[in-house]
Amino acid sequence: MKSYQVKVGSKVDLNKWDPDGTHSYDGDKDSAKAAFARLNQKLERFQEILYAEHKHKLLIVLQARDTGGKDSTIRRVFEHVNPQGVKVASFKVPTDEEMDHDYLWRVHKVVPGKGMISIFNRSHYEDVLVVRVHNLVPQKIWEKRYEHINHFEEMLADEGTTILKFYLHIDKDEQKKRLQARLEDPEKHWKFSLGDLDERKLWGEYTKAYETMLEKTSTGHAPWYIIPANRKWYRDLIIANILVQTLEKLDMKYPEQTDDLSNVIIE
Ligand code: AMP
Ligand code: MG
Repeated sequence: MKSYQVKVGSKVDLNKWDPDGTHSYDGDKDSAKAAFARLNQKLERFQEILYAEHKHKLLIVLQARDTGGKDSTIRRVFEHVNPQGVKVASFKVPTDEEMDHDYLWRVHKVVPGKGMISIFNRSHYEDVLVVRVHNLVPQKIWEKRYEHINHFEEMLADEGTTILKFYLHIDKDEQKKRLQARLEDPEKHWKFSLGDLDERKLWGEYTKAYETMLEKTSTGHAPWYIIPANRKWYRDLIIANILVQTLEKLDMKYPEQTDDLSNVIIE
């Protein structure tokens, strides 16, 4: 399978990353769906062992433009995992209390503990994306954040957290289609925000902010992956595949029973 990982220190030109790509599957949706189902089952099993072993911590960061598919990725890729072992944290416009603190304060509180998976729906990266594009703080403040974030994530990794970061890459036409679909379906109106149209006008500015983020914060301990996300089934397949490969490498085991159970009789 093609590598979607952003190499450490490389330049990123998002125009060169194909949002439509389906590579090895070449549009063969049926076999991709079958492969996805198998990965989903593996994920279910790995998550159970992760929880039982109570040793590793997994942090998954999802970033995307509006309609990029963060919510549906969470719904579909984690469909079969035990909700007890997974926490989703959605990062919205900071509250007054959050604004009174540094930008990592609200983030550190929700990183995974042992045996847990945390999924970030948006993340601390908003503090170098929307904050940069809208000048919510001066440049001399946000430009230091890439380094803070790298150090923060390095600390989490040193302390036993496995970190995977996914940028769901859609193009402007696909966003138009998805916004149009939300507009036309009354059951999707709740997802439509007029503000998304203002953000859409800033497409180019966001592209620059995403490119800098991907260049400066894809590291050995916390790599970014640019996921082709125009086709939802391919997006899900690639993410599930990266998750399964990563969890395989952790070499997890069910914990040993310390009591001798050989003579136990249940009356
Ligand atoms: P949604 O994910 O569609 O519910 O929207 C959440 C909104 O919160 C998005 O418009 C984000 O850009 C915004 N947001 C998230 N984090 C921040 C932040 N640190 N500063 C400003 N806006 C933020
Ligand atoms: Mg939204």
